[in-house]
Amino acid sequence: MLEIKNLHARIAEDGTEILRGVNLTVKAGEVAAIMGPNGSGKSTLSYVLAGREDYEVTEGDILYNGESILEMDPAERAAAGIFLAFQYPMEIPGVATMEFLKVAMNAQRKARGEEELKIPELMKRVRAAAESLSMDMAMLKRPLNVGFSGGEKKRAEILQMKLLEPKLCILDETDSGLDIDALKIVADGVNALRSPDRAIVVITHYQRLLDYIVPDTVHVLYRGRVATSGDKELAVELEKNGYAGLVGEAA
Ligand code: ADP
Ligand code: MG
Repeated sequence: MLEIKNLHARIAEDGTEILRGVNLTVKAGEVAAIMGPNGSGKSTLSYVLAGREDYEVTEGDILYNGESILEMDPAERAAAGIFLAFQYPMEIPGVATMEFLKVAMNAQRKARGEEELKIPELMKRVRAAAESLSMDMAMLKRPLNVGFSGGEKKRAEILQMKLLEPKLCILDETDSGLDIDALKIVADGVNALRSPDRAIVVITHYQRLLDYIVPDTVHVLYRGRVATSGDKELAVELEKNGYAGLVGEAA
């Protein structure tokens, strides 16, 4: 479903190269974890996948279902089923969360050639999804993410993911800012989305999240490259020994 080939990307503004030849394949049905120390380029990779314009791809390619997405803008990528849950969700003053969800869900349905949802059906779906994440409906009347706690923002991201039913889900540090109960709720939400025709990429600094979302594959990003890959045991090993052992291999 996702094939990243020798991907090089730099910051558009100053030309600093952050991704320095990333190779990564994620199959449909798979949950892939991307780990790596702070500053290794994990968030940059997620932004480049989503098409953020602050970064320039200078070499390599990103194939989604076998086709390059490099020429697609972020909206086109979203319409094609790519979803990014941000490490730092943005506050959108003046846009009620419910209104945002309504517009996003119907835009996504339109992109898939489906009819718009009528308000009662839409409300029903949103209510069920919010309940499953233990979110208060009152929160959905508030502007998106404005004044939400760190944990509430992360739940709001997962809520969007559940409702938009993307094919390729990328979660950037969804565990940060969550206490253990919230972590379990969010992990349950992600696990419920596991399906043979969907791929989930979980970016995390810590192994802890992977106790709840058990990955099929684990990849370590280090200095802008995938330094090593393995299965879930690799994450356990990293938790024990840290990333220091990788320095020699990837430097
Ligand atoms: P990670 O998510 O693995 O912690 P990031 O992708 O956020 O790493 O960052 C990788 C490196 O690139 C860091 O050194 C970061 O400071 C730098 N970087 C990323 N984006 C920008 C940007 N827009 N402007 C300046 N530096 C950036
Ligand atoms: Mg990051």
